[in-house]
Amino acid sequence: MAEIRNCPRCGKIFTYMGRPICIKCLEVEESEFKIVKEYIYDNPGATISEVSQETEVSVEKIMRFLREERLEIKSENCNLILECERCGRSIKTGRFCDNCKEQINKDFRREFGMDKDKPVQRPQYRAEKEKMYTATRRKGN
Ligand SMILES: [Zn+2]
Ligand SMILES: [Zn+2]
Repeated sequence: MAEIRNCPRCGKIFTYMGRPICIKCLEVEESEFKIVKEYIYDNPGATISEVSQETEVSVEKIMRFLREERLEIKSENCNLILECERCGRSIKTGRFCDNCKEQINKDFRREFGMDKDKPVQRPQYRAEKEKMYTATRRKGN
């Protein structure tokens, strides 16, 4: 059954189809995205606030386009600064810099036991920890 929601952008009721906003707003966002993209393409030295002023698209929205990796800042767009959410380094697109992305991927793989670099060390480490755990427990009793 179709889910009815209120569009957070225009407040109207719409049928939810996997998108958080209604079709009309989606169209507006789509055209805003195009305008921003074209503006950045034509004005490679523009800052994010200049882009916002000229295109009348809010900075937040432009940032969101960037974070969604729909827009990518070219090397000439060095004034358009986006910060890595992990280390604060300036990045061109997305949420994390390449370093952090790599680190996050590594952590992720380790978390799920997919780190093939050190497969032998894992059970040993676990045994050590269990020993410590039992020792503390015994002490506690
Ligand atoms: Zn709407
Ligand atoms: Zn980073």
